[in-house]
Amino acid sequence: MNTTYDIQNPIDDTVSSINDTANPIYLSSLDTVPGISAEECARLSEVTEIFAFRANDYYLSLIDWNDPADPIRRLIVPTLEELTPWGHLDPSSEHRYTRAPGLQHKYRETALLLVSDLCGGLCRYCFRKRLFIEDAREVNKDISGGLAYIRDHPEISNVLLTGGDPLILGTDRLLDIIRQLRDIDHVEIIRIGTKMPAYDPFRIINDPALLDMIRDYSLDEKRIYIMAQFTHPRELTDAACRAVALLKDAGAVIMNQTPLIRGINDDPEVLAGLFEKLSFIGVNPYYVFQCRPTIGNRTFAVPVEESYRIFEQARSRCSGLAKQARFVLSHATGKIEVLGKTDNHTYFKYNQAANPEDIGRFMVYKSNPEAYWFDDYTDLVDEGRVRGPDGLV
Ligand code: SF4
Repeated sequence: MNTTYDIQNPIDDTVSSINDTANPIYLSSLDTVPGISAEECARLSEVTEIFAFRANDYYLSLIDWNDPADPIRRLIVPTLEELTPWGHLDPSSEHRYTRAPGLQHKYRETALLLVSDLCGGLCRYCFRKRLFIEDAREVNKDISGGLAYIRDHPEISNVLLTGGDPLILGTDRLLDIIRQLRDIDHVEIIRIGTKMPAYDPFRIINDPALLDMIRDYSLDEKRIYIMAQFTHPRELTDAACRAVALLKDAGAVIMNQTPLIRGINDDPEVLAGLFEKLSFIGVNPYYVFQCRPTIGNRTFAVPVEESYRIFEQARSRCSGLAKQARFVLSHATGKIEVLGKTDNHTYFKYNQAANPEDIGRFMVYKSNPEAYWFDDYTDLVDEGRVRGPDGLV
């Protein structure tokens, strides 16, 4: 088996100016970014020593450098606020569900294969920063153990390739992984979790072999899903829309999931603009995530009930097709959807759960406007279940 780690876009730190080219140049050092002064670089070195910086000239060209609060800048350029003590390295306890090197199995039908420890850019709010801080021991270049686990578990019908970003891998490597997954009969859906359509749409536009791979392996009855991460409508450039169109034309189904992040998309107008534009180009808004309590993320977090209000206000501005997203907390125990709130209560439901008995469980908690995470809700008022140990109740 090919276990080489073929990276599509190696870093080139020799660049000293930003070009508007169709072959983005990758940067891992702030002092190569013309929009950032030498003084600011020096100040931010304290941050980048802990939380690395990575971007490319295409994505940086989306920034309005005259606006210190520019949302794209906030997404990709470090700030000193990231040093505020808060959160955990593994906020959703992903370690708990690691069954083989690089393989997580939390929900019955779905397994995650962590195939890459690199992304097109490093989102400042990333919830998997541990991959970029530690030695990325969770990402296994040899996925044979993960594949064997999937083969032995016929209940796994969905496999999510994630990391890091799978599309940062060379197409040969990706093809090798997808071919092996397609050889497993019970794997119906292959999902690719990626922010490359936002960070580097040219990775898709300029690689016919990648599109051929989608065409060959996204079958009529066994689709490949691209789980894109557009976070702000300004990421939906002409090039990004072109990349999405090519992926769709090759037979992929495209969904979008994004966290709700302070200073980036915590505005109903902005979020509605994102939902609408996604629906115009045929991308289904799937999940909006509460910002996880990850180390370094205090500055990006919005309290749960404020996030929910923003989310609903955004949806209220949209057509039916644009308002399909669900607002969820990706908690250690499952995907917990926020269904609604009154003055006194907040309503939750397990959309997915590690414990099958929790799937569909409905919970009413006393409202807590200070809550940033599900664990901050301590006053359970009422609950109802649709499943028990022996099935439906
Ligand atoms: S693309 Fe995903 S894994 Fe990569 S830095 Fe952003 S949030 Fe983290």
